[in-house]
Amino acid sequence: MLICRDLPSLRAATAALRGNGRRLGLVPTMGALHDGHLALLGAARAAGAGAVAASIFVNPLQFNANDDLARYPRDETGDLNKLRGAGCDLVWLPPVEAMYPPGSASVIEVAGPSKGFEGDARPGHFRGVATVCAKLFLQSSADIAAFGEKDWQQLQVVRRMARDLDIPIHIEAVPTIREVDGLAMSSRNRFLSAAERATAPVLYQVMQDVVRVIAADGAVAQVLAEGEARLIAAGFAPDYLALVAAETLEPLQQKTTAPMRLLAAARLGAVRLLDNIAVPA
Ligand code: AMP
Repeated sequence: MLICRDLPSLRAATAALRGNGRRLGLVPTMGALHDGHLALLGAARAAGAGAVAASIFVNPLQFNANDDLARYPRDETGDLNKLRGAGCDLVWLPPVEAMYPPGSASVIEVAGPSKGFEGDARPGHFRGVATVCAKLFLQSSADIAAFGEKDWQQLQVVRRMARDLDIPIHIEAVPTIREVDGLAMSSRNRFLSAAERATAPVLYQVMQDVVRVIAADGAVAQVLAEGEARLIAAGFAPDYLALVAAETLEPLQQKTTAPMRLLAAARLGAVRLLDNIAVPA
């Protein structure tokens, strides 16, 4: 497994991996890897990548005052072992100065799907995500990039950005990997206390119940309000529980025949849990 820490060596390594018409897959991450991240490597291969690269970069541009950049979990040695075990071919580990050299002045602003939800909760977050993803795509020349459905809004923002900027890359969406009790895997779950960890799966349970009622023609506003009340009763502080159009993230007051998604964000103690599931028409 090649490890690159500067741009010239990354470009040389990806050019070699993309030789003979082989397609390169890229899995962008912020590290503290779990099985959800490793599933993205397999998905990139299944989507046609003959070689797979992962990037590990805790992107300061996507954190704001409400987030704690310094507190974000980091475990480079553990991550490299996991990537080696998963058959990763290349790891891109840029230092912050390589990603944003002094004088960097360009950012990418994606309107549309960046609006609302995480865009409201974390001002500037998607500007940071879109900018770093565009840079990662251009640095690596990857043909395929795998993103988790876990971060549904991020997935739509990245898709929109690649399409709008004509970046020749296929974005592969990968279903959320969950713990056995249904909690979506996340690098931040390690900050849950034992009691909070026991409560955390209630989020997914409530979401499944809400989706069942909406699919059976329940009144959307009422079902969502009842869902939020159940979350509060269980000890969560919900930020939102919303029915949206799957691609545009347009909030929906009633169900439609077009693809829909139920989005949720809720704080449990100091941890903000994020989840989403498909809503059948
Ligand atoms: P992160 O390191 O949290 O920025 O995530 C890197 C990538 O892994 C993103 O595309 C996430 O959507 C994806 N990811 C994170 N958690 C999961 C999960 N539980 N299942 C699938 N993909 C995930």
